[in-house]
Parts: sequence; structure tokens; C-alpha cells
Amino acid sequence: MADIRGYYAALGVEPGVPRAEIARAYRQQAKEWHPDKNSAPDASAKFKIISEAYSVLRDESKRAAYDAACAAADEEIQKKVVVEAVSCSRCKKVTAQPRYLIFWNVVAILYGGRASPVQGVFCAACARIAGWKATLVTSLFGWLGILGIAWTPWFGFRNAFGGQKPPDIESRLVWRNAMAFFSQGNVPLAAALAQRVIDLKGMYAQEAREFTDHLKSHGYTKNQTLRDPWKVHPAEVAARLVLMLIVPVGFVVWISKSSGPSVSPGPDTLLSTSPPIYAAADKPSAPSVPGCTSPPPNGAILSGDQPTAVQGHSLEVMNSGAAPAIVKVRNAETGLLLISFFVAKSASVKISSLQDGSYRIQYAFGQDLAEDCQNFQSIGGAGEFPLETLATQYETDKVVTQRLSYTLYTVVGGNVHPTSISTGSFNAP
Ligand SMILES: [Zn+2]
Repeated sequence: MADIRGYYAALGVEPGVPRAEIARAYRQQAKEWHPDKNSAPDASAKFKIISEAYSVLRDESKRAAYDAACAAADEEIQKKVVVEAVSCSRCKKVTAQPRYLIFWNVVAILYGGRASPVQGVFCAACARIAGWKATLVTSLFGWLGILGIAWTPWFGFRNAFGGQKPPDIESRLVWRNAMAFFSQGNVPLAAALAQRVIDLKGMYAQEAREFTDHLKSHGYTKNQTLRDPWKVHPAEVAARLVLMLIVPVGFVVWISKSSGPSVSPGPDTLLSTSPPIYAAADKPSAPSVPGCTSPPPNGAILSGDQPTAVQGHSLEVMNSGAAPAIVKVRNAETGLLLISFFVAKSASVKISSLQDGSYRIQYAFGQDLAEDCQNFQSIGGAGEFPLETLATQYETDKVVTQRLSYTLYTVVGGNVHPTSISTGSFNAP
């Protein structure tokens, strides 16, 4: 029930208390506010209000008339003035401390895009959900276009920090609620909300101050503080900001990964895993040693002759090492060099027309050729493949020759395992 002149509030009692309670409250208040005893500047005014209240409430007929007037006022308020408390536009529940918020969904594709607002009156719980939804949409679809690169951080920040608040609307909503709860008789909540409106310093701060003074002048001095459901947890803001960054960070990681192979280890490391090793042995050779004046092209025969068997076998060498190589084919029994040839780096050479026989195939890596243009000035690693015996098979309808194929670096797990040999045995005549 309303307390239209604040008589009950002045005495600090609820409407409907027994008369004895009113008398006791009056004696207490009168003692406290008597101008002879209280030197406060408003003591005599307060004392007058208390005396007036008591003169009405101690008299049963006057009190009844007053209560009727209050009840009528209640009806009046309910018919015209009252104001229902504001409801959340999402969950439709009455919320004591509503906020008007705007969240932004940014969707950008190539050169187009838009930032669309999601707005309304929110309770704190629904605002959290809306904030996460907008953050998710914007973080996933905001970065996909030119416009999004500017919009997404701009609106993403607003979403992360709990939405955009248009000025003064919160003041209006909370003030309306203060009045609504006051009209429903919930004075403590009304007073607390009025205090909140004052704190907001918005357009209704002045009204709220007057209302609060009015309540105080009628003896309502309890100052209840409201729990703030809007407190945004810093961890939640941080989590939303991190979500905003997932797409751009993922993109950067993807870019750096996809350009990775150009810097990833190649055959050089394979070389170092097993013999023969191109050990960068070719530290710059002594400048005094004259080199081969014209470096050979790939496949050049360095010594010996191109084999001439009519239906011979073939030998193919692919150089996947980190340096040019020389390959030597020797007679397995005598060790005599039959032919040697040059294989440039990342090139292959095929020698055909090898006649039947057993062969030792050697190779070495190096950089500069010696003056005779037949050997390296220094060898960075040399090896020999297992002995090969080539034999032509004559079948009834065809002649079968063999084809040897080597790759010059040892693949781990490969089926041909060269053994390291010394420079001396490689350079032997
Ligand atoms: Zn809600």
C-alpha cells in the first residue's frame, strides 16, 4: 500500500501495525528529533512531520481516512501511472536492472560485407549469451573480406566487452523500474534502483535524487546496495578476444606452414645420415693449385672410352647429392678403370653398351676439378656400390640385358648400400 504523505515512513513503521506500536515509534522519534535536544538544522522540520504523522495515525478515524486515501492512490497508480517493471526482450522475465544493448554481427566476404546490430532490452544472463553469439559469428565470418579487417576489431571489441550501450537509455530503464517497484510497495528495491540511476549520472539522475530525498524526508534511510549482475568477468572478455583472433592467427599459421617446404631440409640432411657423406670437405681449395680450365658438362666422359657392346647393359646414375660427382666404372677383377664420367648436381647420366662382366662402380663428390680435368681437387666423400656382375641372357625369342640404376645419396632404408672408400682408391688409375 502506498504511503501518500509518508506518515508511516516518518515514524518508521509499516502500515497496519497496532496503535501501541505507533505510539512507541512516535515517542522514540520525538525524543530523537525534538529541537531542544537535536541541534541538526532540519530537526524542527522533521519534528513537525513526526508530530503531524502521529496526530493522524493515533486517531483511528483519521487513520482510516488516511489509509483509504492511500488505497485509492494505489488504485490510481495502478490504473495510470504504474508502470510495469521492464522485461528482458529475450527471456521476457522482469529484470530489476535492465540494459539496452547493441551487439554486432560482422559478416564480410571479399569486397562486400555488413555489420548488423542485435539490439534490445537485456537481462544480464541473456546479454551474456548474445555477447557470445555475436563474438562467434564475427570471429568466424568477420575476417573474410576487406571491410571486415577494419570492422571486425571495431565491433568485436564492443561485443567482447558486453555490447554497446546507447547513452541515457539505461538511466531511463532503471528509473522506470524504480518507479514500478515503488508503486508495487517494494520501497527498498525502488530506493536502491534510484541510487543506481543517480550513479549513472544520466538524464534521470535529478529525478532520482529528488525521489531519494523524498524517501529520506519520510524516514526511509536504509541504504540497500544492489548486487550488480552486470559485472563482466575479465576472463570472459579475454576469452572473447581470443576467439576473435582465432581466424587471423590460424591464417598466419597456415600461410607460414604452406610456404614451409622451401626451407625444409632436403637431400643435404639425407646425405649426412649415412655414407657417403659430402662433408663440405671442399673448403676452398688452395688458390695456388691450378684448376681445370673448362669445367665439364653433365655426362662428360673424363677418362676411358664409351663402351661399344652391340647389345650391352646400361648404367644410369642420378646425382641427388649436394655437389657434383664423378662416377668410375672399374673391372672387378683387375681394378682397372674402364670409364669415368661427370654427373652434375641434380642431374643424371646414362651409359649404355656395357659388355658382360663384373664391375665395381665408384663415385665421389667434390667441387672443383683438378688440372687434368679427370678428378676433383679434393673429395668430399667417396663410395662404392656392391659388386655387379652383368650377364646377357639369351632366351628363345629375345636378348635380355640389364639396367643398373643408382641414386647418389643413400636413402635410409634403400636397397643398395654403398660403402665408403678412401680418396686414394677412388683416384687410383
Ligand atoms: Zn533475459
